[in-house]
Amino acid sequence: MPRPIQATIHLQALRHNLARARRAAPDARVWAVVKANAYGHGIERVYEGLRGADGFALLDLGEAERVRALGWRGPILLLEGVFEVRDLELCSRLNLWHTVHCDEQIEMLATHKTQAPHRVFLKMNSGMNRLGFTPQRYRAAWTRLNALPQVDEISLMTHFSDADGAKGIAQQLEVFNAATQDLPGERTLSNSAATLRYNGGAPLRSDWVRPGIAVYGSAPDFPEHDAAHWELQPAMTLAAKIIAIQDLAAGATVGYGSSFVADAPLRIGVVACGYADGYPRHCSTGTPVLVNGVRTRMVGRVSMDMITVDLTPVPEAGFGSEVTLWGRAANGAVLSIDEVAQAGGTVGYELMCALALRVPVVVA
Ligand SMILES: *Cc1c(COP(=O)(O)O)cnc(C)c1O
Repeated sequence: MPRPIQATIHLQALRHNLARARRAAPDARVWAVVKANAYGHGIERVYEGLRGADGFALLDLGEAERVRALGWRGPILLLEGVFEVRDLELCSRLNLWHTVHCDEQIEMLATHKTQAPHRVFLKMNSGMNRLGFTPQRYRAAWTRLNALPQVDEISLMTHFSDADGAKGIAQQLEVFNAATQDLPGERTLSNSAATLRYNGGAPLRSDWVRPGIAVYGSAPDFPEHDAAHWELQPAMTLAAKIIAIQDLAAGATVGYGSSFVADAPLRIGVVACGYADGYPRHCSTGTPVLVNGVRTRMVGRVSMDMITVDLTPVPEAGFGSEVTLWGRAANGAVLSIDEVAQAGGTVGYELMCALALRVPVVVA
């Protein structure tokens, strides 16, 4: 028998979330962002649920090959562009659209021999200061690209640093709009947060939106809003079972470091999930968890292969009972990955990306 832990990828939830993103940006085409192996869900596993997208955005060339191998003939965008000149061969061969964010990438293109000119997305650094040309240098980069026989269509791109927070997008949007005013080409600006929070509001014009996290059912701006607020459904459930029961006397402790002390007699369940499965070790006593679909809390420290949970609200639970670490329980109850992430001092993105290889995954 394999250890009783399993992740489930929900195709219907992916379809639902993609449709939700579309509804938020009805005039735009939608890139489903599937970088980092589809945020840990597995590119091959999510494909069926996301093939209704207009394109796939990612940044690893190997992942682009995998999407083509699945039979996808539509657009694929490399969000960071190429890393070395021979990557351009693959772009030509697989018809990949690629971001151009620095002079080195323009130089590589200028030396590339291709039959079919490439579609490129010229990226502006409108304030995030990771990738892209500054507004002052953007037009010169556009002019240089436009003169290259290797380049077909040039689209315009930027990325927001604060679409999920109080600062918002206004400042970056103004910088981008001012610097691109009279440039032709399609525009792509919005990640999940910008798509859900700002779309439709002029002067944010997006021909393509780039939702990632929302497609996987996590709220981009938790805790200000939760997934239910945005009508998103979890695309991943991580579930395990209780493999032992302990009855603690008052004053007894649980797990490494004896960090949890029972102040009264307490029945706890030992669950076949630990940090080696991708459950965050920074979660501690109080982190929410579902047992038989009933909300309770973790107690004590997360160990490599086990966690311990308070069974007070679920007296009927016992050996073999279902434990939902995040996602949807058999009774339909949902525990959002965002809540678990928050308890561990991180974000839903990190938890889904960190699902461990040893966890068997099924697609439902
Ligand atoms: C990852 C990424 C996205 C998607 O961001 P989410 O917050 O997951 O929606 C969009 N655009 C770029 C350039 C990215 O790297």
